[in-house]
Amino acid sequence: ATPGDCPADVETLGRSSWTLLHSIAAIYPTTPTASDQSDIKSFMKLFAKFYPCWSCAEDFQEYIQKKDVRASSRDEFGNWLCDAHNEVNKKLGKPVFDCSKWEERWRTGWKDGRCD
Ligand code: FAD
Repeated sequence: ATPGDCPADVETLGRSSWTLLHSIAAIYPTTPTASDQSDIKSFMKLFAKFYPCWSCAEDFQEYIQKKDVRASSRDEFGNWLCDAHNEVNKKLGKPVFDCSKWEERWRTGWKDGRCD
């Protein structure tokens, strides 16, 4: 079969999902309305509920219950998401990402211009 035309495994699904989530943080308003804030919280809750890896979904729902989604600004949501991703990184023994760099990674591109 052509690579890629099979159901997504946990890694492919995870990479694509983090790309989507951090990219949403990148366009989340710097000064969100009350409805933006309540919508992004609902979105994250429902995303976690229907995440198509059941053990991942269970842990992520638990994480959201413990660490309420914070989204009173783009910066706050970006950092909340970065912390959530780091929690999974730790669980999987992957390196912890420096959250002061989330915007360079997902919104502006790196300062050294490698994404230009
Ligand atoms: P990924 O972790 O997919 O990261 C992609 C890129 O994001 C990295 O290359 C890096 O540039 C950047 N990045 C890394 N960390 C951060 C961060 N903290 N903030 C911002 N950017 C960052 N897999 C399991 O096996 N078990 C699980 O329980 C599990 N739970 C998951 C829960 C959720 C909600 C999601 C979205 C995924 C989950 N995954 C889980 C998948 C797992 O997190 C990885 O996506 C997968 O293992 C592939 O890892 P990767 O090394 O390609 O990088």
